Amino acid sequence: MIEAKCHCGNITLRFEKLLETITSCNCSNCHRIGALWAYYTADQVEITQQEYSKVYLWGNKRRSYHVCPNCGCTTHYTQKRDDGTNRVAINTRMADPELYKSVRVKHFDGAESFKFID
Ligand SMILES: [Zn+2]
Repeated sequence: MIEAKCHCGNITLRFEKLLETITSCNCSNCHRIGALWAYYTADQVEITQQEYSKVYLWGNKRRSYHVCPNCGCTTHYTQKRDDGTNRVAINTRMADPELYKSVRVKHFDGAESFKFID
């Protein structure tokens, strides 16, 4: 199991495998957070939290960004997708950077075209 957690350890995400790519998005929220996202379905991620996360919604409010109320890290977002699946996007910045140093980063233009640009 791979583990990602916020700085204080309140929120922990556990998942089986690394993905081949992670995503950097330049939208107004993601570029502030500095997140690098790995996309899973809800059944692939085990989430534990002592104290419930704060949820931040913006724009079309379809993504719920979960923020630790104690240390302020944005650990993941959840989203009901058009195909009916429940996405959990893990902010891989919460995991050991060694794990991700050879994983390719794809760039998503969330600010304008809403498409991958590489
Ligand atoms: Zn925390």
